[in-house]
Amino acid sequence: MREVSELDGVGPQVASRLKALGIIREVDLLLHRPLRYEDRTRIVAMNRVRPETRVQVEGRVMHQEIVQRRRRMLLVTLADDAGQITLRFFRFYPSQLRMFRVGNHLRCFGDVRFGPQGFEMAHPQCQVLGTGEPPPLPKHLTAIYPVTQGLAQATLAKIIDGAVERLLSGIIELPDPLDGTIDPGLVEAVRQVHRPGPDADLDALIDGHHPAVQRLASEELLAHHLALTRLNRARARQKAHPLEPDQALDAKLLDVVGFEPTGAQRRVIAEIAADLNTSRPMRRLLQGDVGSGKTLVAAVALLAAAASGRQAAIVAPTEILAEQHYNTLSQWFAPLGIEPVWLAGKVKGKARREALERLAGDAAVAIGTHALFQHGVEFRDLALIVVDEQHRFGVHQRLALAAKGSEGERSPHQLVMTATPIPRTLAMTAYAGLEVSVIDELPPGRKPVTTVALSQGRREEIIDRLRRALAEGRQAYWVCPLIEESEVLEAQAAESTAEELSAALPEFTVGLIHGRMKPADKQQVMDDFSAGRIELLVATTVIEVGVDVPNASLMMIENAERLGLSQLHQLRGRVGRGSAQAACVLIYKPPLGETAQKRLEVMRETTDGFVIAEKDLELRGPGEVLGTRQTGMMRFRIADLARDAELLEPVKGLADSLDTAGADIVIERWLGDAEQFVDV
Ligand code: ADP
Ligand code: MG
Repeated sequence: MREVSELDGVGPQVASRLKALGIIREVDLLLHRPLRYEDRTRIVAMNRVRPETRVQVEGRVMHQEIVQRRRRMLLVTLADDAGQITLRFFRFYPSQLRMFRVGNHLRCFGDVRFGPQGFEMAHPQCQVLGTGEPPPLPKHLTAIYPVTQGLAQATLAKIIDGAVERLLSGIIELPDPLDGTIDPGLVEAVRQVHRPGPDADLDALIDGHHPAVQRLASEELLAHHLALTRLNRARARQKAHPLEPDQALDAKLLDVVGFEPTGAQRRVIAEIAADLNTSRPMRRLLQGDVGSGKTLVAAVALLAAAASGRQAAIVAPTEILAEQHYNTLSQWFAPLGIEPVWLAGKVKGKARREALERLAGDAAVAIGTHALFQHGVEFRDLALIVVDEQHRFGVHQRLALAAKGSEGERSPHQLVMTATPIPRTLAMTAYAGLEVSVIDELPPGRKPVTTVALSQGRREEIIDRLRRALAEGRQAYWVCPLIEESEVLEAQAAESTAEELSAALPEFTVGLIHGRMKPADKQQVMDDFSAGRIELLVATTVIEVGVDVPNASLMMIENAERLGLSQLHQLRGRVGRGSAQAACVLIYKPPLGETAQKRLEVMRETTDGFVIAEKDLELRGPGEVLGTRQTGMMRFRIADLARDAELLEPVKGLADSLDTAGADIVIERWLGDAEQFVDV
């Protein structure tokens, strides 16, 4: 299968953007699922347009005028035989004024609203039609894809469309080992997902209950199942170095941290110690709600490796999180004579050479990001890997981890930690082959975060409340709307909110952090916030996981109705870590849909992560669209464990029906290089 970089029209820059979306091979284009669809297959007569719909109309420009209301705007009247509609533009260029010259014939697509002059469209996409035959309408619905920074929807759609075209005309071949076992066939399913007919069941396509989506989801789950089965078989033959805890060292650590472990922490520490002290590699998942104290548990495990004269590494998915671990753990370990090695992507030159030397030499503990497992990093004797916030890592990284430190039949112990509570039934699949430990108790003295939901109409009141809290010396987060389709827009929203809030709260220092900033800049902002130099931190969802600033006791979440329960829970978990009574304000945009209303209710009623996880499953019925970004679980391209739980049993049957060659094809399609799963 070709890589996208070999395709016409895909230069290195586009290729790197595609890679950010997980699209590396041509086949990945076919497996990139649309977020939604637009119906450009028909022209709607102007007396038939309805508010709150997206439609396509065709008509002649009757009138054009620039008016000065609160803002300058361009108003265009467009008419067909049946009626007329107003086009409204708040931003416009001279070329547009020419486009909307009276008498021009236009085709426009956009959202319809009811305005002062009847039906109108704000900023529709328009095309001038010549005098001859209008260009033909598409025969199928137009797919809208999730994009990423620097990659336009139109560019991505064109590249995907090319791949779909090659598939349908037989230029790309997709071998289908499940042919005849499930309906529809693979090629047909791909076609229906990218080019549904005008009468397709759109709700089902978007929420994923459509047979075509289910067909692809089944195959994806099958790929994971097959891969994990192979890994587990290989693992059954692996050995590990037993790691023996040193009681005196453990006691010293507890002395340094200055608090008593909770009963739950003691229990899981014992479970892990027992696993580590055998010659079978540990594969354990540690689940513990945000703030439950997983770091201490990790520290005790790392110590067991150090005490046995071997090495341990802890990795986090982002530099912010990794650095936070580094700060905490170097403090805790210093009195024990252990000096951890720090390695992240930004560590370069001499510092990096020194880090690498220590890893190959006498270092006992390494802390960092994935940079720890990249090519060229050699450990002397890596015996334990701790992975924090696992749900941020894909299967791929998990495999790379498993490979690292493996030597012949010997493999390091692995501890995987997550704050995402996963209902048991799903945990079995999401983390197949892992033993599970749970911290089901929070450290004493935590007061549950009080939560209120307020309509955005009360913004001034909310800002007042914020002002009073900041004046009391508290620190706050303000999280900005998540915009599914684009990181760029999300960052822009955060930027303009930060401006608005600094203007409204001139007496306080407002900081800004979002995913498009350089790691060093992010780190600077987090440091300033931790040190109290920033009082209000405006953020996108980059702060979702793991960040620990105990003095922050107020969490404002804008457009809370757009976020899933697990994400709201993660965000709220950023506060309530210190002694002050913490509060969370969910700001929503009315009117609230039924599910959104229930979600906000759940958030007000409970702070228990497991209750929230169960409710999350319950609430995600048909009609609810939750992108992968919102689920917080392991990332699949198409499958969604909450939605597709009932596919899991049949998938096992499918697995039995495949021979090795068939299994190779399926694994390779969804997970890439099948070699790494081979159970030799
Ligand atoms: P998480 O499970 O979210 O990673 P952390 O390990 O960051 O949680 O712990 C959250 C906070 O609670 C930290 O400030 C930590 O020092 C503190 N903490 C952890 N365990 C205890 C305990 N048993 N008693 C008091 N405080 C604790
Ligand atoms: Mg943590």
